Amino acid sequence: MEVLPEIIPSIALIREKIRSIHHEGKLIGLVPTMGALHDGHAELMRTARGQCDYLVTSIFVNPVQFGPNEDYDRYPRTFEADKELCRGCGVDAIFAPTVGEMYPDGFQTYIDVTEVSKGLCGDRRPHHFRGVTTVVGKLFHIVSPDIAWFGQKDAQQVRVIRQMVKDLLFPVNIVEVPTVREPDGLALSSRNRYLTESQRTQATCLVQALRHAEAKLKTGVRQVSQLRLEMIAIVDAMPDARLDYIEIVDEQTLQPMTEIDRPALVALAVYFDQTRLIDNTILVPN
Ligand code: AMP
Repeated sequence: MEVLPEIIPSIALIREKIRSIHHEGKLIGLVPTMGALHDGHAELMRTARGQCDYLVTSIFVNPVQFGPNEDYDRYPRTFEADKELCRGCGVDAIFAPTVGEMYPDGFQTYIDVTEVSKGLCGDRRPHHFRGVTTVVGKLFHIVSPDIAWFGQKDAQQVRVIRQMVKDLLFPVNIVEVPTVREPDGLALSSRNRYLTESQRTQATCLVQALRHAEAKLKTGVRQVSQLRLEMIAIVDAMPDARLDYIEIVDEQTLQPMTEIDRPALVALAVYFDQTRLIDNTILVPN
């Protein structure tokens, strides 16, 4: 029977724990999450479990990565279920700090990755990535993992974090894990639970648009403008979908491109009421 992970609610306690684990020469892994865990998170943890000796999952709904009109207050908090999911994945410790300890009064230091944070979600969610890098940087300092796992579902986030790690010399290996999807293709997300039944059905338009772009590229269509227009039509066909953006950019630099003559990241964000869903895929020309 799996053992329940140790719940570690403070920075001092996890530091003490990590010191002793380091002392034993063990490889430490970290899967950062905001909780409301689903099988996408579980895939990160299962991958991580096979690649490190001591696995920490952090659960922290990070206020500084949410905009003033975003869903910080209503973001789902499901700690009891999260513990069970972590147990099933063989997690050793759950680090669940408080907001007060992570951001004490007078907090004023942020990590800002200036270039790859631009475009895509960075343009639509001002300060979002600054919030992500700040909290992930803090978590890396606290947990000092040798390896950390992130989902391809948040493709720009992974690139921003890789850049931060490179620029600030964090001694941590970043591993990207493929997106886990529902049987009909919808990417798993903690926010899917906000969707009504009808919105849930329509939400497959994100993956349909991505698959359409993949299929068209295979037939030789490389023009970004044409692919974008056809993807937009697929999203617009859904009565309740409101397109935030579709962008096709260089897979590495996230700079815009006009023709798919090298690997491209195609990413989109779509609103259903207040619920914002994202998805992406990599297009590789023949
Ligand atoms: P979050 O709790 O939304 O901050 O996500 C925590 C981590 O889980 C991030 O690295 C996400 O990219 C990853 N993740 C979220 N959804 C999925 C998914 N459907 N498949 C794989 N990874 C995911």
